[in-house]
Amino acid sequence: MIVLGIETSCDETGIALYHTEYGLLGHTLYSQIEMHNEYGGVVPELASRDHIRRVLPLIKQTLLKAERHLHDINAIAYTQGPGLAGALLVGASIGTALGFALNIPVLGIHHLEGHLLSPLLSKPSPSFPFVALLVSGGHTQLMQVNGIGLYKLLGETVDDAAGEAFDKTAKLLGLGYPGGPALSKLAMQGQSGRFKLPRPMLNSGNLNFSFSGLKTAVLTLVSKHDCLTQQMRADIALAFQEAAVAVLTEKALAALSQTGLTQLVVAGGVGANSQLRRSLTNRAAAIGATVFYPELEFCTDNGAMIAFAGAMRLQTADNGSQQPSSSFTVKPRWDLEMLTAPTPKQ
Ligand code: ATP
Ligand code: MG
Ligand code: FE
Repeated sequence: MIVLGIETSCDETGIALYHTEYGLLGHTLYSQIEMHNEYGGVVPELASRDHIRRVLPLIKQTLLKAERHLHDINAIAYTQGPGLAGALLVGASIGTALGFALNIPVLGIHHLEGHLLSPLLSKPSPSFPFVALLVSGGHTQLMQVNGIGLYKLLGETVDDAAGEAFDKTAKLLGLGYPGGPALSKLAMQGQSGRFKLPRPMLNSGNLNFSFSGLKTAVLTLVSKHDCLTQQMRADIALAFQEAAVAVLTEKALAALSQTGLTQLVVAGGVGANSQLRRSLTNRAAAIGATVFYPELEFCTDNGAMIAFAGAMRLQTADNGSQQPSSSFTVKPRWDLEMLTAPTPKQ
């Protein structure tokens, strides 16, 4: 079975073709980062308009790359939520229309389920059950994943997401959008111990996070100095990254010990951070646990994770409920815990 994946939840148009036997056949991505950079963040209306421009050419390009035709597609998976309503509507309408025209099943996928399952695209891949640390631009959650659609929330951020904290801190340091990659690059030139920042909720006794205080601590630090040298900016970037990584590592390890599980999956954009990867891998190894990451290109938004999540669901599901229909809805706000496992085939 070949599944076409369509991701348009935010500022990336991602298209992919996933074959249930041969794996990923091809994928393409167009990032609107440059367009939004000028405004310091994503402008929703510009995002949806750009998805409209990109989505069909990208589908054609992906088919061409994979040497497949439209009629080779057996099912379509699109991101139904959460995300920007206008942006989601582009993927949902194109996916539904194509499915209707080709008379094939169409499935709306939860964007975070895509992120969560993205490490399964790589080999070796984890097996259920595992703990997932989801660290993206909009979310920071620890989940116990017992199977497709069987997600139990263990803890989450009470304010900003980790990626959001990276982005806001980067902005304070005069870096562009999105700031995560730029901040981690700057941190490489930083000297450890020059600045001390708090590690919020490190000893809270639960698996929740808080990042807004950390960002405020950076703001206080920055405003104390009239002029920051490049070295000071790098030292602050490193101090921020060390604090964020320390909290994320500690809580992820605590989640492993609380659940008794020995596999940790890291997903979402911040999962691309090399200091976080080193810290998690080292600490997990010390307790005999293994950490699984998606390929770097599949940490941030992409079509491959959506095609894959769709394929996983369609393979096990009774497809009766996914017959082509001309109507669709999007879910800009959608709790991952609301998902259910696919109804098994009879
Ligand atoms: P969500 O998935 O919650 O809806 P999103 O789709 O915007 O949010 P992702 O695409 O998964 O989030 O990730 C983007 C985030 O990852 C941004 O906040 C970005 O700064 C951050 N990020 C990307 N690379 C790195 C890195 N190397 N270090 C730290 N943060 C990073
Ligand atoms: Mg993005
Ligand atoms: Fe995302």
